[in-house]
Amino acid sequence: MNKNPYVEIFDTTLRDGTQSEAISLSIQDKVYITQKLDEFGIDFIEGGWPGSNPKDEEYFEKAKKLTLKNSKLCAFGSTARDPKKVETDNNLQKLLKSETPAISIFGKTWRLHSQKSLGLSDEENEDLIFKSVRFLKDQGRQIIYDAEHFFDGYKDDQDFALKMLKAAEAGGADVIVLCDTNGGSLPDEVYKITEKMLKNLSVPVGIHAHNDGEMAVANTLQAVLAGAVHVQGTINGFGERCGNANLCSVIPNLTLKMGKKTAPSRNMQKLTSLSHYVDELMNQAPNTRAAFVGKSAFTHKGGIHVSSILKDNRMYEHIDPSVVGNRQHVIISDLSGGSNIRYKAQELGLKMEDDKEFSKKFVGQIKSLEYEGFQFDGAEASFELLMLAELNEYEPFFEVTYTKINVLFSPEGHKYAEAVLKVKVGDETEHTAADGNGPVNALDKALRKALVRFYPEIRDIHLIDYKVRVLNERNGTAAKVRVLVESGDGEKMWSTVGVSHDIIEASLQALNDSLNYKILKLQKSENHALTS
Ligand SMILES: [Zn+2]
Repeated sequence: MNKNPYVEIFDTTLRDGTQSEAISLSIQDKVYITQKLDEFGIDFIEGGWPGSNPKDEEYFEKAKKLTLKNSKLCAFGSTARDPKKVETDNNLQKLLKSETPAISIFGKTWRLHSQKSLGLSDEENEDLIFKSVRFLKDQGRQIIYDAEHFFDGYKDDQDFALKMLKAAEAGGADVIVLCDTNGGSLPDEVYKITEKMLKNLSVPVGIHAHNDGEMAVANTLQAVLAGAVHVQGTINGFGERCGNANLCSVIPNLTLKMGKKTAPSRNMQKLTSLSHYVDELMNQAPNTRAAFVGKSAFTHKGGIHVSSILKDNRMYEHIDPSVVGNRQHVIISDLSGGSNIRYKAQELGLKMEDDKEFSKKFVGQIKSLEYEGFQFDGAEASFELLMLAELNEYEPFFEVTYTKINVLFSPEGHKYAEAVLKVKVGDETEHTAADGNGPVNALDKALRKALVRFYPEIRDIHLIDYKVRVLNERNGTAAKVRVLVESGDGEKMWSTVGVSHDIIEASLQALNDSLNYKILKLQKSENHALTS
């Protein structure tokens, strides 16, 4: 059992993480992520493999100029190719040229690999590891030795695997990292084998786990429990195949559940934003179900859950979400009870006189709208308008009384759409037309054109996202569609929904809600400014 409270965090998002399918980072993106990881307090940042591609070489050139406050930069590479030519090995030279304070170097620890892919005898492989580590160590660098395929190699031949670790130790490695490169080991094996290795080695031991059996985080925690003091992983678990151990889960588990100290533990309230930042630069939609940092991690839908967390959030939350920079969400759906409505009313600062009676009636209304195809999970602005209307605190600011859309497809492939609208605001009617690259675009432009005279601020609104979902697919073109529109004004974003048999009508409903919501918010803030 490991009593040492300190665990070193080694991030390989920029190296193993970029080996994920469909992920590519520019050199500048890598620099940005390096700075973010440094700010977060990561101990080591593995920036890339300078011997494998010119992009990583260029990254290290740029990274030399960075002033890092907390992290040590680390270049990654393999042992030399020939035990007789270690000093002149191109890969080792490139590692040194990166001028990083730390170097991670991997060597073969499974005979299958040393024999089959390198064609080396056991003694030659051992010699190669020893000499490569020794050569780099003699240049004054901190050496992190990655024992590639260690757990598979150990299961194949314990003596061979241990001999290779001993070679790295004798070479002067500062830490020996046991790698579950193929990601197929189970937590109990990792615990037992790590514990055994600690008895045989005098240098600190680390863990590098892949997620092929969905065990990377569990295996990492087990290795720490057995005595490992250095943990490798990536932000959001990006990595080769099924990924690496996810540091967004490893760090809070070590800190909050196992009582360990890590350098980033003090910045854990930045974890959720770090996770989103990396997703953003990797052009990946955030995983809403991610533990700790996902949007769903503290989202409550079932009525009983919501009524309990209103009393005490510990009833359905394993930690306080703010500790990892996340927050509680409550969503409204046909599974909702009155508690969800009360929670939302509280969140919106609304007072309800007879809240039980109101909630009952309003839940009934939501349920029948959801039956028709509406969904308010992703359309909080429409939900707010609906609730305010039910409380007699909101009436739409305008009414569209006439809509005509013309769409033209020319034989040359040009598409053209024109929308004509009549919009009533108070006693006045505005008659407008606008064209666009499609019917929804034309509609959106015509609607704003009609309203801008009355509400000039709506000029700032822009459409961020537009999603269409066919609801009952079996009916073919008679099926209903649900349109979700996300709008923004440069400061805030809000989402609205519309449902109809007709895609244009559903879009118009969602656009109406979006503009009404913005006008309502403006008026509320003006009233607030007048009274305060
Ligand atoms: Zn790996």
